[in-house]
Amino acid sequence: MLGVFLPAVALTLGAFSYQPLEYSLSLDLPEMSQADMQATDPEALHEVSIPDYVYTIQPGDTLSTIFERLGVSQKQMYEVLESDVSILALDTLKPGDRLGFWLSQDRLEQLELRFSAAHQVVFTRAGEEAFEYRDVRIEGDWKEEVVAGEIHGSFYTSAKRAGLTDAEVQRVSALLQDKINFRRDLRAGDQFQVVRARQYVDGEATGNMRLEGLRVLNRSRELTAFMFDGHYYDLNGESLARAFMRYPTKRRFRLSSHFNPYRKHPVTGRVRPHNGTDFATPIGTPVMATGDGVVTRVTRHPYAGLYIVIDHGEKYRTRFLHLSKALVRKGQTVSRGQKIALTGNSGRSTGAHLHYELHINGRPVNAMKAPIPVADAVGDEDRVAFNALKDRLLSQMATPQG
Ligand SMILES: [Zn+2]
Repeated sequence: MLGVFLPAVALTLGAFSYQPLEYSLSLDLPEMSQADMQATDPEALHEVSIPDYVYTIQPGDTLSTIFERLGVSQKQMYEVLESDVSILALDTLKPGDRLGFWLSQDRLEQLELRFSAAHQVVFTRAGEEAFEYRDVRIEGDWKEEVVAGEIHGSFYTSAKRAGLTDAEVQRVSALLQDKINFRRDLRAGDQFQVVRARQYVDGEATGNMRLEGLRVLNRSRELTAFMFDGHYYDLNGESLARAFMRYPTKRRFRLSSHFNPYRKHPVTGRVRPHNGTDFATPIGTPVMATGDGVVTRVTRHPYAGLYIVIDHGEKYRTRFLHLSKALVRKGQTVSRGQKIALTGNSGRSTGAHLHYELHINGRPVNAMKAPIPVADAVGDEDRVAFNALKDRLLSQMATPQG
């Protein structure tokens, strides 16, 4: 574990958006007092693992003002941003997240973004004008709980009343969208059960949750979904997700730059991972969602340009950079093959192209080669394990304890 931090303030507001003159976390800029910047024990200053300052993000903060307050130059902030283009972690900061700064005078040696006990991103100085990043993820323990309820009114209000979050309601609807029309088919008195798991690291809840299984009893029908090896299957082991597409465009374009986690910067010679695949697309080429999912981000970044992030369930995520136009909004559900954007040349880009990323369990992988969901059903070799999981989840649903 890197760094020692102060207790977080739980806040849910705030968004991180780029403005031309200043990298901004939100709209208004509150006055920050020196007390907001808490120095750690001076005895520990020479210990690499303890930051000199920690700061908890407040609504309205900008990265610029936080750096200014600590006397760290905007030039160094942009050097961090340049490293961040490979991971785009700064854009996901929200109130309550914590920043840890390691400084020598006004020189930034290391910056840690602490999103939760389970996830940190650390930028470490790598030479005079550059930073390298590490993405630290801790699996922790997942504790299961059952959420059960009955339909009275819409599925949304019934599920919320039972204790599901907006994201979970959306996930359930997306999983069963081909099987049931939630508006038309549900009747008062229909029942639903969800087994979800919450993540804990060292006893601290990280805020991460995942749906392990669910069942909707709709009159005489039983609709089910069980997560097995990162995919959802029904009672019979048939896949609920449609297969992914390998390419995000209708036409095939030349690959102008391959996925390469060890790519060296042409000038500095330092490792600057290329976490995506570049296609030589003319500006305005339609971009398609490669799988069913939910748009979780439509953002501008000084280097990545206009970009879109789509979450495809718990395991898969895709990102599309340097766009000219977004055709979807944050929170929108999209289906495989749906037009989501037009390509462009925004951000720092050497020419018009589409940069496409596929992440599995939070890690970028080669989208051209990685195993993508193509299976339609649980394989014969996995049947015994799948059936055991299914039986365990069903028996939990049968005896909901809240
Ligand atoms: Zn690229």
